[in-house]
Amino acid sequence: MYNSKSNYADEFISHEEIIDTLDWAVHEGQQQATIYSILEKAELMRGLNHREAAALLMCDDQEIKSQIFNLARKIKKRYYGNRIVMFAPLYLSNYCINGCVYCPYHAKNKDIKRIQLTQEEIRKEVIALQDMGHKRLALEAGEDPINNTMDYYLESIKTIYETKHRNGSIRRVNINVAATTVEDYRKLKAAGIGTYILFQETYHRKTYEELHPSGPKSDYGWHTEAMDRAMDGGIDDVGIGVLFGLDRFAYDFVGLLMHVEHLEASKGVGPHTISVPRIRPASDVSAEDFDNAVSDEQFTWIVACLRVAEPYCGMIISTRESQDVRGRVLELGISQMSGGSRTSVGGYSDVDHEVIDETAQFDIADHRTLDEVVYWLMTQDHIPSFCTACYRSGRTGDRFMSLLKSEQIVNCCQPNALMTLQEYLEDYASLKTKKLGETLIARGLHDIGNEKIRLQTIDSIEKIKQGKRDLCY
Ligand code: SF4
Ligand code: SF4
Repeated sequence: MYNSKSNYADEFISHEEIIDTLDWAVHEGQQQATIYSILEKAELMRGLNHREAAALLMCDDQEIKSQIFNLARKIKKRYYGNRIVMFAPLYLSNYCINGCVYCPYHAKNKDIKRIQLTQEEIRKEVIALQDMGHKRLALEAGEDPINNTMDYYLESIKTIYETKHRNGSIRRVNINVAATTVEDYRKLKAAGIGTYILFQETYHRKTYEELHPSGPKSDYGWHTEAMDRAMDGGIDDVGIGVLFGLDRFAYDFVGLLMHVEHLEASKGVGPHTISVPRIRPASDVSAEDFDNAVSDEQFTWIVACLRVAEPYCGMIISTRESQDVRGRVLELGISQMSGGSRTSVGGYSDVDHEVIDETAQFDIADHRTLDEVVYWLMTQDHIPSFCTACYRSGRTGDRFMSLLKSEQIVNCCQPNALMTLQEYLEDYASLKTKKLGETLIARGLHDIGNEKIRLQTIDSIEKIKQGKRDLCY
């Protein structure tokens, strides 16, 4: 039944294969010879299949676990260096006809105020985000074919790209909207989106159906096969994820890896990113309602195992997580992070936060401003990057993956991180952040191995200081 190349959700995410994998992982997978041979393969930093990764996830041996943590750090360093790409979510509308029980936007929640931003309000939000320093957004909206139409999304994307305030501009718009048709995905691609993001929530069909009792999203197959349609529609950067805590994390961990394997097998390229959200409380939602809640320790372990299993997928963490947890997973594999986020509709520009906060999709655990997050990252020896260069230079899909796999992408990432950080320091940073940033950039320039690129980057940084913007590799 299990067939990674199949077009059918139940065949590429086969329940029997997941159960069999987990059973194998806790028994045969833990035998010394097996686990050591998996470790040996993992050390090559080329990834693991879902069975091998499941054996590591199930491992209880402290020595092996600490080897995995170290390996995750090494992989992060090798492919992503110490850069962290910054982004912010932008909520367009919380109208939704679905019944997801873990989300306050579900149709039956009458306590929440429903808002859909007009184009003028979107402009205001974008200006507020630009004034913070953001260059990359992830659009969020509920599913509502009457209120949140494809035309509305297309117009909103156009508005966002066209809005320019002072030196600000949004250079990459990613979008997280409901599963749709190939034709609609084509339209999103033509509108210039970066990544199409859609979380599976849980791969466990029965749990999925219980948690999504109504609305179009209740169709497990339609939702699970969405990335296939997105890729058929020409979107070659897709972002997947599960909401950890809905089902057993080990089940969803294996399902997630099978989804990656499916996209690689049937579309020739895996997902651009994996997001790792955990269930959080919100209006009408309590995390205690979910028996499978994931502890901080389990969460950091999942991130490390994912990094080892999938070295080539960027990994994203949001402000659902606290500063402490974000700090812990940073070096284990996270490559993108949101900062200064608001998870409500109109939350960036509206001064009446009390009203707007009622529309929040989930409670934020990291309330720091973008400048505070940028400063903190630098104190952790990470370079906050506002780079959006790849998608704008056509480095997407398999082209991007081959540069990442051959480790050549670093020749773009490091200079771009330094240049975009310099832009941030010039235009938006506090004095304290600017001072620390200048030191970090000087050190970062020193670390560029290729002499020609180093000299070009030094030149570009000088130009940015003199007022030039949007220079990149
Ligand atoms: Fe609607 Fe998405 Fe919330 Fe489900 S998770 S209720 S689809 S906004
Ligand atoms: Fe991302 Fe490409 Fe920029 Fe590197 S160069 S940070 S991969 S957009």
